[in-house]
Amino acid sequence: MTEPTRRLLLVHAHPDDESINNGATMARYAAEGARVTLVTCTLGERGEVIPPELRHLTGAALGEHRLRELTAAMAELGVEDFRLLGGPGHYTDSGMMGLPDNEDPACFWQADVEEAAGRLAEVILEVRPQVLVTYDDNGGYGHPDHIQAHRVAMRAAELAAERGWEIPKVYWNRVPRSVGEAAFARLEGDLSALPFSKAGALDDVPGVVADERVTTEIDGTAYAGAKAAAMRAHATQIEVAQPYFALSNELAQPLFTTEYYELVRGRAGAPRENDLFAGLGAGEAS
Ligand SMILES: [Zn+2]
Repeated sequence: MTEPTRRLLLVHAHPDDESINNGATMARYAAEGARVTLVTCTLGERGEVIPPELRHLTGAALGEHRLRELTAAMAELGVEDFRLLGGPGHYTDSGMMGLPDNEDPACFWQADVEEAAGRLAEVILEVRPQVLVTYDDNGGYGHPDHIQAHRVAMRAAELAAERGWEIPKVYWNRVPRSVGEAAFARLEGDLSALPFSKAGALDDVPGVVADERVTTEIDGTAYAGAKAAAMRAHATQIEVAQPYFALSNELAQPLFTTEYYELVRGRAGAPRENDLFAGLGAGEAS
């Protein structure tokens, strides 16, 4: 078998982040024959569990369960290559910012960035992706594991470049403010028909920025079903009522099937891209 020409690497903090942020993108590129590689940094052992019958799961037991959820989600998206950074359970969930959990020496927030980035650089050198997708420097919304995933991903890209593979294009996950505002306005009208009692706020959505910063729009409408199924597979974390979902806070928010990105390294293939691989030269696409 020959190596797929187009190779996409996504770096995320916890199982579920990939499906919420990039599920449609991952399903689309997998269906088109690209190699899609997901690296998740922790098993989300400190996540709050939604279904009452699963609330007894905590710590390592919850991590094991969430790995099974991730496996099921990747089957829904058609993604075969997914890995935990350093192996399952190597780095543990750091919990929300400011909690004593952040002090646990095994948690990802306490990990040495250089060491963790070295591990991720190995994956980059093996996969040789043309595209890297991760969070912005605030982790999208300030969760310590998301901030750390950003730092590790950006540093790993530098280390891999020093060792022979410079990733041509690096993107951060985004939501254009106008798109978010319109979706939350629709949500107000739809709320009474949903299984969620309250609506979230646009400020709670990671990665919202002014429209002009968004460089790239991936229309995943054809993969809306796959994305929703992948999100449902993360049943401890997500409740889906298309085209909305809620996390354990039970606040409804829009389920975006068009996904948005900001190109932060590399050359855009068009003023407004609709393909993460747009504009890659022949030399970069091999
Ligand atoms: Zn997360």
